[in-house]
Amino acid sequence: MTFSLSSFAHDCRVLSMAKGDTSKLTREDFDAGPCSFDEIEPGLFLGNLTAATDVDWLKDAGITRILTIDSCPLPRKIQERLPNLIIKYIQMTDMPREDLLTHFEDSYEFIDRALDSDGRVLVHCYFGVSRSATLVIAYIMKKRKLSFVDALQVVKSKRRFVAPNPGFVAQLRLYENMDYGVDSTNVQFKMYRLQIAADKVRKARILPQSCVDLIKPDPALTTMRPEPSVYRCKKCRRIVASASNILPHAPREKQIWRHISVKSVLKDGESYDKLIQRRDDSARVELCDKIYFVEPLAWMPDITHNVEGKLNCPKCNTKLGAYSWIAGSQCPCGSKIAPAFYLVPSKLDWSNVVQNVQVTV
Ligand SMILES: [Zn+2]
Ligand SMILES: [Zn+2]
Repeated sequence: MTFSLSSFAHDCRVLSMAKGDTSKLTREDFDAGPCSFDEIEPGLFLGNLTAATDVDWLKDAGITRILTIDSCPLPRKIQERLPNLIIKYIQMTDMPREDLLTHFEDSYEFIDRALDSDGRVLVHCYFGVSRSATLVIAYIMKKRKLSFVDALQVVKSKRRFVAPNPGFVAQLRLYENMDYGVDSTNVQFKMYRLQIAADKVRKARILPQSCVDLIKPDPALTTMRPEPSVYRCKKCRRIVASASNILPHAPREKQIWRHISVKSVLKDGESYDKLIQRRDDSARVELCDKIYFVEPLAWMPDITHNVEGKLNCPKCNTKLGAYSWIAGSQCPCGSKIAPAFYLVPSKLDWSNVVQNVQVTV
């Protein structure tokens, strides 16, 4: 058979983008094809929608759990005919900017619980090529402590046409970078979440409540474990950012959460924040300091209900920078970051509290 399932899946991705245009074909004009599944490791099956709705096959294969990741849930009759089946449903389309990463941990638990109790689990989407394959690859990565590339090979050796879309590939690489977990201090993960929030701002024109935790406390008001390294307004000395609020970028780097180039200047296990604090020659050479991109901070006015604006010092009102959720900002080095919250270095002073402590004897 010369029919390429992965290119077919890709075509459907493009088609689904054209929704609303009735002259274009949509997903409903295709079916998921014949029952298709592969056993990736004992008891773990990856397949298409047809497999998930084939009650006879589900019975024969002894499937005890189904993880559905698709734009619609399985028909009710499946559960009615197999009342002991445990089904988990994640609603998602096969688009690169969908956030699948935040489902990796839940999915891992769901799959692992099945295999731990000698159950058999089917993970499926429409074709069993991109979305469901991504969850299975993430599972294999964590379970066997494999890199994305190695886990992809494991899954491909059992189901040769698996092909996560480029956004999911980037999420799997980030998952590897975070040691198969979610590390909320990881700079790439912070940027990733900001980008997802920006997509929501683009649609709703305000920051949804679910993303409000992205706005970090005002570092000037932080009394619990204040950080020693801070940036102050040059004019009035008010603290406007801590070192950990900085989202460092390398010159000409685009979309930093997808790229690992900044990582190449890190020492083993070192966080980006430490790197900024280290401020040694190697860091200065590799990281751009023409503009400081920072996390959104509680002192920044209007950022939850405007898409862009100025960032003035909350004490003396000097203009320190600007923000843009949707268009982002271009650094003079050529990096374009979106969304962007930035402070101009010439308006700031860097200070290390430890240096200011007076030693009395
Ligand atoms: Zn000021
Ligand atoms: Zn730059």
